[in-house]
Amino acid sequence: MTTHISERVQALAPSATLAMSQKSNELKAQGVDVINLSVGEPDFETPAHIKEAAKRAIDENYTFYTPVPGYLSLRKAVSEKLSRENGVSYAPEQIVVSNGAKQALCNVILATINPGDEVIIPMPAWVSYVEMVKLAGGTPVAVNADITQDFKITPTQLRTAITPATRMILLCSPSNPTGSVYSRQELQGLVDVLAEYPDIIILADEIYEHINFIGSFTSLGSFPETADRTVIINGVSKAYAMTGWRIGYCACPLWLAKAVNKLQGQYSSNASSIAQKAAEAAYTGPQDCVEEMNRAFERRRNLVVELARAIPGLGVNCPQGAFYLFPEVSAYIGKTTPEGNKIASSADLAMYLLEVGHVATVDGGAFGMEGYIRLSYATSDDNIREAMARIANALAQLK
Ligand code: PMP
Ligand code: GLU
Repeated sequence: MTTHISERVQALAPSATLAMSQKSNELKAQGVDVINLSVGEPDFETPAHIKEAAKRAIDENYTFYTPVPGYLSLRKAVSEKLSRENGVSYAPEQIVVSNGAKQALCNVILATINPGDEVIIPMPAWVSYVEMVKLAGGTPVAVNADITQDFKITPTQLRTAITPATRMILLCSPSNPTGSVYSRQELQGLVDVLAEYPDIIILADEIYEHINFIGSFTSLGSFPETADRTVIINGVSKAYAMTGWRIGYCACPLWLAKAVNKLQGQYSSNASSIAQKAAEAAYTGPQDCVEEMNRAFERRRNLVVELARAIPGLGVNCPQGAFYLFPEVSAYIGKTTPEGNKIASSADLAMYLLEVGHVATVDGGAFGMEGYIRLSYATSDDNIREAMARIANALAQLK
């Protein structure tokens, strides 16, 4: 049969983070000793009390379909978490639990964006945002914030990007891929602009909330001026080292929660019942595991920044959250490898670092910013030291 792929899927770019990670795993399978700094996921095991809750859920037969938006007990736990930790008020009916924050984001975008609608995305941004907006037929509008502004957009930039077609802004803080964190004051500056445009939905991806080294976290949902149209995306993947369990959620206005519920009811139903019970344990159980992991990430952040700053030619900021470093590498673009190949882009550089340095990173171009690479430092101190030594050595060979 001839292949028949929809234009919708043909137009999608594959996920560069997942592709690079797969390439690194393939090289590893061939016996190459690759250090994988590409995919962003905590390297810790899921805490024991959460795993126990999942085992109990199986024994207690939490094995049937659940309500489409998730068990009420889990949505209550999320609602309480939002109020306790973030000072925001979303009733259980305003929460829809999905297969990870990824599906929660895609649900909200598909439920609100029509062809022609513009979605403002500060760049660099996580690889999937632009593709999700394209899937909905919307138009991504990039607002660039490079290292000179610590990768954070200003209120003036935001105002300039808004047009009558703007339907949404998608903001991620702490940020993937840069680790930058907007302070409460910086968020207030953006909210002041958005308050003038009541038809713009604010989609706040707060998945890295707990991996945050500034000591406090401000949720975008906590600004009364815009709270009624702010959608919070969060989940257990990063805070509780539960990437494989696939539990995330949106907390949103009731009209939107109903629309998301309808959409999800037709194409995936509920997230795994067992994983939902595990997530409930994560939100209601002891929280010291979150703080312990955060401390480990902060120590690694300090290490990776110190080592990266010692490499000539890299532009390195000091990220305040998440587990990514986004060094500027343009000093190496235009150079030539010992084999005589030209490094024409940051994508070429990431490939060179993988093939010659045996370190997997992700090209900044995949996040909408050429001239940078992303390193995920969610790995051991030893791996970080070895990876940075390999990167330094590979870069030193470029002429
Ligand atoms: N948002 C951001 C910014 C992310 O980095 C990720 C992880 N890839 C997600 C959402 C999705 O997380 P998950 O689907 O694992 O909950
Ligand atoms: N958050 C991760 C990353 O950016 C997971 C991979 C993905 O879903 O993109 O690497």
